[in-house]
Amino acid sequence: MSATQATNGAAKPAHALDYDVIIIGAGISGMYQLLRLRELGMRVRVLEAGTGVGGTWYWNRYPGARFDSESYSYQYSFSKELLDEWSWSEHFAGQPETLRYLNHVADKFDLRKDIQFRSRVKSAHYQEASRSWKVSVEDGSAYSARFLITAVGPLSAPTMPRIAGVETFKGESYHTGLWPHHPVSFAGKRVAVIGTGATGVQTIQEVAKTVGHLTVFQRTPNWCKPLKNGKISDEEQKRIKASYDEIFKRCDETYSCFLHTPDPRRTFEVSSEEREAFLEKLYDTPGFGMWQGNFRDMLTDREANKVISEFVANKIRQRVKDPKVAEQLIPRNHGFGTRRVPMETKYYEVYNQPNVELVDIKETPIEQITSNGLKTSDRTFEFDMIIYATGFDAVTGSFDRIDIRGAGGVGLKEKWRGGIETFVGVQVAGFPNMMMLVGPHTALGNIPRSIEYNVDWVAGLLGYMKERNLTLAEAKPEAIDAWTDFVREKAEGLLSNEIDSWMTGVNLNVDGKSKRILARYSGSAPEYRAWCNKVAAEGYKDLALA
Ligand code: NAP
Repeated sequence: MSATQATNGAAKPAHALDYDVIIIGAGISGMYQLLRLRELGMRVRVLEAGTGVGGTWYWNRYPGARFDSESYSYQYSFSKELLDEWSWSEHFAGQPETLRYLNHVADKFDLRKDIQFRSRVKSAHYQEASRSWKVSVEDGSAYSARFLITAVGPLSAPTMPRIAGVETFKGESYHTGLWPHHPVSFAGKRVAVIGTGATGVQTIQEVAKTVGHLTVFQRTPNWCKPLKNGKISDEEQKRIKASYDEIFKRCDETYSCFLHTPDPRRTFEVSSEEREAFLEKLYDTPGFGMWQGNFRDMLTDREANKVISEFVANKIRQRVKDPKVAEQLIPRNHGFGTRRVPMETKYYEVYNQPNVELVDIKETPIEQITSNGLKTSDRTFEFDMIIYATGFDAVTGSFDRIDIRGAGGVGLKEKWRGGIETFVGVQVAGFPNMMMLVGPHTALGNIPRSIEYNVDWVAGLLGYMKERNLTLAEAKPEAIDAWTDFVREKAEGLLSNEIDSWMTGVNLNVDGKSKRILARYSGSAPEYRAWCNKVAAEGYKDLALA
């Protein structure tokens, strides 16, 4: 179905549709999109599976969940009043505080009246004849709207490991991304954690504080870096609040919208002493500095990456007392920064505790989960609790879980089977009037920053259409090709694209996701915005509007 074919249907009048816009998801992106479209006088309904707002921060209430980016750079920036009245208590806020913040935003802007909770969307089908979307909820209800906006998040479809017997375990078991709302105690219990990504690391270091005995099952170690969190003093609070303009200006200018951005020097441009001193400084810098603010060739030059990785490996060796365990914690199959770097607080020291054991399941794979524990190839373990920190069916997974069908009944899941192609991560060919927030091939990085840009851009487009009584928007094939070529070009030569991770679309727990794909845009956020700004400035001629 081409853009021109899709324009054939006659628009059903707006008053004959339930809403102008249906947004799926009341996380950071859905909440802000609701507000912006309401300002345009549109009738908007948000359908949310959970019982409250917050998305990622609503679902991921596992022990130790917190920001890995500076709190003040990771909040909404659109309202000066909101910035002035909210005070973060820590440089990297914990999940309960973030969820409180998002609830405060929902209250302040009276968002809840347009959000329908406990409403998991089952399907969304484009109706060619009326240029609208029919969206069905699991409870059997269905709604129509001119536009469909997906605000489903890139990391929101939790995946359980494919291990025989998972359903047979009789003790407590939790996936971190579906953590219960009631308190969970680890005291005196024998607890297993499976998974050592950013989530597993945060969970392990928190559980280890009170657990009876902890066994960590690690398939692939990751390069972790100290978070260096701390309380925000009154003095700092004043300074932060006085510098919001600078903070957000900086985020606008950096490669991935973080406060940190690559150092202009190359790794071997400096003497080994200078290099060592710089890496020491970065290791000691709070947050993502060592990942996002390292030498500019760290992710493109193998030798540079090797030197930096060896520096971090030595830190692990210094921090973990048992040399065998230290070596097990050092990644061998990928270099520092080529996967998302987990931020940690005394994570490595956890393995010095007498009640903590690390099991390398590459050496001795888990063969089966049993009713009272699990079996690896060489041992049997008994547990009171198993925590699955096994990640998400990322990027496309939350789309795949909804039966999304565009013009001609074509399924999005089937369409993406051959590879992802989008227009600036917002539109897909054959899915008119569907806009994606933080969709595949959009700039991610500091996600709230990217969300605000994405949402404003979509609001700009919908406002433009409203003013002109336009009822159909679909990206033109040549515009999709141009953007996809650019995404491909930006991915070239990046070491991170040679590694299996959610960032390259690999999840061995999901059918059809065992091979690396071009899952994300790896160019800079300023380049992304320049592209999108040009589209808007030129009257959206990359889209067929009718
Ligand atoms: P993840 O990075 O995909 O890690 C999943 C872990 O589970 C990996 O260690 C993986 O091992 C392991 N695993 C998966 N299936 C397994 C199986 N069948 N058997 C044994 N081990 C298995 O997921 P995540 O830790 O939830 O993090 C995902 C992303 O969420 C992060 O990269 C980050 O972007 C985001 N996140 C953000 C924050 C924050 O901002 N504060 C915190 C947490 C997460 P392999 O590596 O061998 O596959």
